Amino acid sequence: MTISVQDKQYLNFINGKGVPSSSQEMMESLNPANKKEAVGYVQKSTLEDLNLAIKAAKQAQEKWKRLSGAARGQYLHKAADIMENRLDEIAECATREMGKTLAETKGETARGIAILRYYAGEGMRKMGDVIPSTDAEALMFTSRVPLGVVGVITPWNFPIAIPIWKIAPALVYGNTVIIKPATETAITCAKIIECFEEAEIPAGVVNMITGSGSIIGQAIAEHPEINAITFTGSDRVGKQIGQQAFVRGAKYQLEMGGKNPVIVAADADLDLAVEGTISGAFRSTGQKCTATSRVIVQHEVYEKFKQKLLAKTKEITVGEGLNGETWMGPCASENQLQTVLSYIEKGKSEGATLLYGGRQLTDGEYENGFYVEPTIFENVESHMTISQEEIFGPVIALMKVESIEEALALANDVQYGLSASIFTTNISHMLSFINEMDAGLIRINSESAGVELQAPFGGMKQSSSHSREQGEAAKEFFTAIKTVFIKS
Ligand code: NDP
Repeated sequence: MTISVQDKQYLNFINGKGVPSSSQEMMESLNPANKKEAVGYVQKSTLEDLNLAIKAAKQAQEKWKRLSGAARGQYLHKAADIMENRLDEIAECATREMGKTLAETKGETARGIAILRYYAGEGMRKMGDVIPSTDAEALMFTSRVPLGVVGVITPWNFPIAIPIWKIAPALVYGNTVIIKPATETAITCAKIIECFEEAEIPAGVVNMITGSGSIIGQAIAEHPEINAITFTGSDRVGKQIGQQAFVRGAKYQLEMGGKNPVIVAADADLDLAVEGTISGAFRSTGQKCTATSRVIVQHEVYEKFKQKLLAKTKEITVGEGLNGETWMGPCASENQLQTVLSYIEKGKSEGATLLYGGRQLTDGEYENGFYVEPTIFENVESHMTISQEEIFGPVIALMKVESIEEALALANDVQYGLSASIFTTNISHMLSFINEMDAGLIRINSESAGVELQAPFGGMKQSSSHSREQGEAAKEFFTAIKTVFIKS
């Protein structure tokens, strides 16, 4: 392997080799559970480095696209086997870099492996349709071709699964890739790229450039030789990337924020609803785009639900993700912690009632980490900032409603539409929810977070650019359709 070098330093990966940046500068990755621990150092790349990667990816694509899908899939199978052998190491690295518990990062690595295997098989599935022509002597069909060089820009919150669910389909459909991972979790990404290197994927097919979003990320969005961009991250950056890609005619896909509601109907199984709310809101310290952030409860069961929710929230053990006793880790960075704390202050100043938590944890084992308590507000109104903006932290807003109709109206009263959940035993409530809720993921009697790799994933409204990722949907983005008409 050529990416990791001594002293916890990691290189870029360009044209099949580990390469230092022309800047000769590195960026530090800190452990959010202990800011005194540097997890390692990655390259602070320049546009010169990026241009080398683009040249390599462009050249490599000529051969890569001519391989059969099955042959391309073999490299994904190999990378999956290698990753399986390195599961513990990759999971531990991700926990050290972004703080979520080891159980979560192990699960995420296992999911990454399953995604690689799913798309490895995709190389042998159908890539077009025969469409009857009005000319009885002609054959008409569609075929799919790769887009070329794909730029992949990823966030830190799923540092294993998101890079893989973008890279694997891009590759199997014949594209080559340049990934710029989130700076906070660039080392975890380097380890994923090492699995492709160990699988002996041809030089230039996968390239990784680490560096700042505003320099390398922006240059990927603007570069005329990058044919498509797939992005997951904040709306601010996503919208900017979408504009840059649109102007130069590149294909783009944006997965952005969420403000996901859970509705608890009067007829719900309250224990199940509490369990789903806690898991959806506080797992991964609330740093999931599908995390529950608004909990809308029918008045008949509001008090009972609230008491059960409080009791369970009090049981949450906060601590270092590597400790097996920990249920909730720290925020992923100092920046993220400050954002969460500022939203908590905003909630208080706008008149919501702080029911539980709300404080930064700083004593003893928390001294050097970015910890915050799981937090619950009540008396939250829909116009308040904590009810409208994505917090990306362990904070929920409890809201009381009279009816399911009112609950649905409240649930839809945000700019986002990623995921939504209802707890109910009433089939007509379920059907209303499926029909009326503006969200790309509809979850019934299950938490708002939860994505299966074989099903389409993406949001409505301002949560996405309206395309979908994962499962078969990935084919729509990573290929272009040609309609072929043959007449003998
Ligand atoms: P950001 O948008 O800040 O960053 C995402 C990626 O974009 C990073 O690699 C970042 O690089 C890069 N970037 C930053 N600025 C630019 C720029 N000007 N041009 C191009 N690229 C740039 O998001 P976060 O990493 O903070 O992730 C959290 C956000 O992601 C949340 O808002 C969350 O909702 C969203 N998200 C959405 C998901 C979904 O599927 N809908 C899933 C997961 C997260 P760098 O790290 O160097 O700044």
